Amino acid sequence: MTTQGNEKWTDAELAASVTIYLEMLELERSGQPLNKAQFNRQLRDGQLASRSPGSVEFRMQNISAVLAELCLEWIKGYPPRGNVGTQTKATIMGFLQAGGALVVDDYEATESEEVLEAKVAKLMLLELSSTPAGIKKPIRSLREASVFLRDPLVKAWILQNAKGICEGCGDPAPFKLADGRPFLEVHHVRPLKAKGSDCTSNAVALCPNCHRRCHLADDSETFTHSLYEKNLRLVRE
Ligand SMILES: [Zn+2]
Ligand SMILES: [Zn+2]
Repeated sequence: MTTQGNEKWTDAELAASVTIYLEMLELERSGQPLNKAQFNRQLRDGQLASRSPGSVEFRMQNISAVLAELCLEWIKGYPPRGNVGTQTKATIMGFLQAGGALVVDDYEATESEEVLEAKVAKLMLLELSSTPAGIKKPIRSLREASVFLRDPLVKAWILQNAKGICEGCGDPAPFKLADGRPFLEVHHVRPLKAKGSDCTSNAVALCPNCHRRCHLADDSETFTHSLYEKNLRLVRE
């Protein structure tokens, strides 16, 4: 008995579909000929015994749709099609992960800047083949971020003391704020979350480039070291 695929697909059916899909994708990648009809029959001889050829075909296109949404490569013979429901999409992604095609967590939105950067670094290793849809209405996290109480006096002092000159590179601030103050950022040389203090002996005024360099550059350690050398006010903590 075959149906038009209107009945909800079971996990076992989805798992079998994804397994075969990845097998076919691998064949296509390695430039080998792909007999879609043969794989379709193979599925209906197994887990998908109750599905019609068209229904199997449509499910394959669903899997392509999930991959396309993630900017991942999909089988050319199965152009993305259909609105995949949230639940089914999650199930398909789970099986794609089991098949080694992706890591689900890499695609999950995060409120943490640090986690975001780590995910970005991983995803950039992939050849992103399409433009992501993104989040039209970003959700404000309800979780209270763990923030430190900062001393405004320390920040004011650091900025005033810098007189508009970056303490990292010695260049003037890149622009002035609306109120006329030169724009520099205050950085804690030993991060607060590494138990660094919020004192002038642990804070510097930096231009945005030098600031990012401290946090992200391959030479951040050396650069941070140079801050201590250049600014005798700073004390290693
Ligand atoms: Zn600088
Ligand atoms: Zn910083």
